[in-house]
Amino acid sequence: MQFAETIVLEKIRRIQIYHNTKRYRQDQMDQILAETGGSFAIGGPIYLSSYQACCHLRADGVTHCAPDYTTYGMAWSADAQDYGMEKLPSGKSNYIECVHLIVDGKGVDPHYNADMGGRRARQAIGAKEGRFAYIATEAAYTPEQLRDVLLSSGWDAAVMLDGGGSVCFRDSTGAGFACDPGRVMPFYIVVHRADVSESDTGSSGKHVVLDAGHDAGNLANRSPDGSYYEHEFALDMARRIRAHLERCGIAVTETRPDGAAVSLAQRCAIANGIAGLDLFVSLHSNAAGGSGWSSARGWSAYIYGAGGKREQAARAILARVRETGTAVRSTPIVQDPSLYVLKHTAAPAVLIEHAFHTNADDVANLKDAAWRASVAAAESRGIADHLGVAWVPETSQETPQETPGDPELEAAVDILTAAGIIDSPDRWKALEYTDTSVRLLIIKMAKALGT
Ligand SMILES: [Zn+2]
Repeated sequence: MQFAETIVLEKIRRIQIYHNTKRYRQDQMDQILAETGGSFAIGGPIYLSSYQACCHLRADGVTHCAPDYTTYGMAWSADAQDYGMEKLPSGKSNYIECVHLIVDGKGVDPHYNADMGGRRARQAIGAKEGRFAYIATEAAYTPEQLRDVLLSSGWDAAVMLDGGGSVCFRDSTGAGFACDPGRVMPFYIVVHRADVSESDTGSSGKHVVLDAGHDAGNLANRSPDGSYYEHEFALDMARRIRAHLERCGIAVTETRPDGAAVSLAQRCAIANGIAGLDLFVSLHSNAAGGSGWSSARGWSAYIYGAGGKREQAARAILARVRETGTAVRSTPIVQDPSLYVLKHTAAPAVLIEHAFHTNADDVANLKDAAWRASVAAAESRGIADHLGVAWVPETSQETPQETPGDPELEAAVDILTAAGIIDSPDRWKALEYTDTSVRLLIIKMAKALGT
């Protein structure tokens, strides 16, 4: 089992280093949450057999350990809004050190005692793009492997906490696990979310789960030339869609906020643990014809069966995706009761296959940041349409700017669109394209001339 998430600091009220003077065991973590009012708790740093901290540690202004060296750790003040990595000891009222793995976005050679090495369950806290980040996983990693997983997930800072039997997680819904249920540890980290009711549903009262397909351990789902991996794409799309939905006041939970593996059952458990969840959206790219290139291409959405909110959601998303001009399959909504996440989620569920990574034209799109931005915005808009939530434009990009227009360019784009060479005229007219899309366009134009 694994729990991992990144949380914007504005949605955190307090990050508490809980001193376990009552000697709660791991299987009593719900009592810690009840006592503190925290939202979830994970295990803490390594400690001595005397239950003393043995690395830099300060909790609510009380210094528990002050060794005679400086090193990196996470530090924050009472409201946690300045949470980040610092050289310790620092002047802040909370800080924690254990084994730092990532500093300033770069992996470091971790220093640890031999009894902390080897492959074992792991937990860590850190930061990613200014967010609080944590992971507690039963998957066995060496410290170096954990570092690489977190790096590939985009963590900018990471401190590995105690591993093996000290790894545990519990949240206020009762979800969690304990690697050694009877173990008593001197410190836990308890995170208090800001206004849980609001962050659970967003200001719109709607809640969506985004399920980024696959994980960093799956390198099989890729383009035949190895230039594209589905797990990376899915994660990137989840982040893009999340930003749009949250801007519209829709609460978002990701089943896989990071690169690490999450089972299909766990993805469904995350969704089924959210009462009144409005929609589950799984993000993938398609494949056809074995491991080679194939002619099949286009966007499609899968649902368990016809009718209901799932079909309404799929149709609403499809309608917005069509507006982008991207290629859509001739049967764009497919009923497939065999897909696990469609079958085992209680909420209406849609699985999106974004184009084929086995098609050379599609894969150029899949790799193109402008295409991703366009399709993610369209899908988000379709989700908002379906949920009846007003679309909030991006202030920086969607506010009409004083663009004089370029009639010559627009006419040229219209000609190329009519000739089937350009799929997304709006993006070309808006000068939203990358080197990759220009390359593809040149190739398509040359092909068109040759026929
Ligand atoms: Zn997939």
